[in-house]
Amino acid sequence: MILDAKKIGVEWESFSFSLQDINLKRLMHDKIVQDINLTCLVKIKREHDRFDFIGEVAGHYNRACQSCLALIKKEHNHNFTIKLLPENDQEFKGTNKKLDLQDCDVDMYQKNQLPADKYIEDYLILELPDSFRCSDNCLGLCQTCGADLNKGNCQCLK
Ligand SMILES: [Zn+2]
Ligand SMILES: [Zn+2]
Repeated sequence: MILDAKKIGVEWESFSFSLQDINLKRLMHDKIVQDINLTCLVKIKREHDRFDFIGEVAGHYNRACQSCLALIKKEHNHNFTIKLLPENDQEFKGTNKKLDLQDCDVDMYQKNQLPADKYIEDYLILELPDSFRCSDNCLGLCQTCGADLNKGNCQCLK
């Protein structure tokens, strides 16, 4: 969902939409997830040419264990807040850091378009840990035959 920056005012405005696999290809690829079903509530307001953006993301997805590739269902229910700056924001780009942005995350926009899907995807990619295993004791797959060793020994070990 792309919001038109020109239509966003100084009062909070809410938008809701859902995100599935088709909307989150980078997330699927980077974190090996699929069957994504997330409901997003976005609140946004303007401050000059910047925007405060609150995302409330709830739902679930399946993530593959990096050792045995089993798909594990994960619930997701988190909120995040970012500031959106125009891509050519001089103050932010400049060396004299007057901006008090240390405590909040920043994303950029261009051409008066606020791609809400992208901001949520950026956040999810940061939020999800890089490594994921179904359990600390996961035995993984046999290097030779590919059998799932969590389900018992394969013939190779005999
Ligand atoms: Zn596993
Ligand atoms: Zn084997």
